[in-house]
Amino acid sequence: MSGQSDLELVNKKGIRLDGRKAGELRNIKIEAGVLENADGSAYVEIGKNKVRAAVYGPRECHPRHLQDPTKAIIQCKYNMMAFSVSDRKRPGPDRRSVEISKIIAEALEAVVLTELYPRASIDVYIEILQANAGTRCAGLTAASVALADAGIPMKDIIPAVAVGKADGKVLLDLNKEEDNFGQADVPLALIPKTNEIVLLQMDGNMTRDEFDKAIEMGVAACHEIYELQKDALRRRYSAALKDGDSNE
Ligand code: UDP
Repeated sequence: MSGQSDLELVNKKGIRLDGRKAGELRNIKIEAGVLENADGSAYVEIGKNKVRAAVYGPRECHPRHLQDPTKAIIQCKYNMMAFSVSDRKRPGPDRRSVEISKIIAEALEAVVLTELYPRASIDVYIEILQANAGTRCAGLTAASVALADAGIPMKDIIPAVAVGKADGKVLLDLNKEEDNFGQADVPLALIPKTNEIVLLQMDGNMTRDEFDKAIEMGVAACHEIYELQKDALRRRYSAALKDGDSNE
């Protein structure tokens, strides 16, 4: 997010480097139940982002001192694979992945009925296989499908997308160039049934009017992503029923 580049991110006709208009999402593909050994899983592609999420639990919480006698805790690990970016990336956790794990867990806590499972842990693993900006949003989108696939009771599933500003234009679903050289990046996630925002961050600057426009765009896009999430779960379970494989 430098805001300084000679690169033209949005041309005179309002078209972005990847051919999209300001309010257009990248291509999205969502699949549920992609891993056999996890309780629930999902695979998400948003543009060039490729993300896999796996869920285990509810199971006894370890280490035990983290147990909460009133509810389950959600332990989330977001990890960017060493080969997921073009620059050198040291494998293992860093400050950024600790922060992203925390905000994703907090967003999921807003929908999972954790009070049903005292002392338990619900473990969510998010692996970024390929990154091109918006990976925390793609990760959260995948994690909530994986939780639903695990059969964990939830109020709703959570879609997420980043909005922002580049070349002075408010844009939906920033790609890497727009994220790196634009003026603002605002990841957001919501509970579609209530339109309650459960994740909102901001890097960079926007005017109040631009911010309002960006949020409006992001909320509408989240509803589109929500439909794709539900569709992925429907496809997964209609296929499982056809195979007589309903206990998977
Ligand atoms: N990125 C990278 N190396 C890193 C961290 C990030 O190349 O160590 C890239 C990656 O493409 C990522 C983008 O920068 O998606 C934006 O990162 P940010 O921290 O804004 O998070 P994100 O937009 O992925 O949620």
